[in-house]
Amino acid sequence: MEDPNGRRDFVRKAMLGAAGGATVLAGCGGGPADSGEGANVQTRPTVRWRLASSFSRSLDTIYGVAEVMAERLSELTDGKFQIRAYPGGELVPAFEVLEAVQKGTAQMGHSASYYFIGKNPALAFDATVPFGLTARQYWAWVYHGGGLDLLRELFADFNIINFPGGNTGAQMGGWFTDPISGLGDLRGLRMRIPGLGGRVMDELGVTVQQIPGGEIYPSLERGAIDAAEWVGPYDDEKLGFHQIAKNYYYPGWWEPGPALSFYVNRDAWDQLPTAYQQALEVACHEAGALMLASYDAKNPAALQRLLDQGVQVRKFPDDIMQAASEATTAMLEADASDPAYRKIYDAYKQWRADSYRWFGLAEQAYADFAYDNILT
Ligand code: CA
Repeated sequence: MEDPNGRRDFVRKAMLGAAGGATVLAGCGGGPADSGEGANVQTRPTVRWRLASSFSRSLDTIYGVAEVMAERLSELTDGKFQIRAYPGGELVPAFEVLEAVQKGTAQMGHSASYYFIGKNPALAFDATVPFGLTARQYWAWVYHGGGLDLLRELFADFNIINFPGGNTGAQMGGWFTDPISGLGDLRGLRMRIPGLGGRVMDELGVTVQQIPGGEIYPSLERGAIDAAEWVGPYDDEKLGFHQIAKNYYYPGWWEPGPALSFYVNRDAWDQLPTAYQQALEVACHEAGALMLASYDAKNPAALQRLLDQGVQVRKFPDDIMQAASEATTAMLEADASDPAYRKIYDAYKQWRADSYRWFGLAEQAYADFAYDNILT
């Protein structure tokens, strides 16, 4: 198939070549001889990649990160480096994104790495673990605490180089058809909650259900489940859970700062000119930062709309929080019997302890006062 831009690229290269020649001529007058333009053409090839996302197009905030990144990358490379994003299920199924990038079916992916803990349990630390780091603490760990190096060691086994790719911020605890008065009310409760949070809830007596996002609403509606968690006000509102279950619990202690990641096939990465590698890294970083800002911008209004429709926000009782944190520690310690997991868990745990001590001072004291008292 002929590249629709092939002719334009040829013309552009020819023009750059002519300009280079003119510069060389000018250089005869005593200025520096040109060496840049010819090399510039060589290092700015047209590159087209495919990106497999795990998310559906309707989740504009999460899925949209891939498109924001691709658009910026194109701008940074004068349209030379184009990435086309595909929603979950179009190129590959949502939960096969890592494998697709590993094999090179897509040069790039965007996902939440806790979807792939079946391949390596330590991949959870690339996303989040119950009672883990908040979004800011995670970024600090990744960019300045050695976290990215540890995570890249994990992804090297999959022939992938990973880049942080967004965060939802602390999630809500989900929708319950009836209020929960304490730990005893969890026994036998049927709840949709995936991943490590589901494992902890199972320890607390919950009958955990694994249900894809699109099937949560009908399951609640027909009474097949009593509770379900998703993300937070902005995303949850779209799925309509508030029409059935009016009790909206917080916090989502299993996802205090879930991070998304971009995955890049190592061979594809190695073939990129250095300038394109830099542009891609910048575009990923910017898109990720904008994603968190987008949630923080959209959630307040969405929460108000939900409250206006009679939703009751409720805090998880203390005994549930305490039991959940103890069950989480036992679970993570048990998983750390694997030495590779232990290495990253110990680093993460130390960073969390240091971060909690710091954030527990000025940030905490300010929030405790201001969020309750300064309302206008
Ligand atoms: Ca969630």
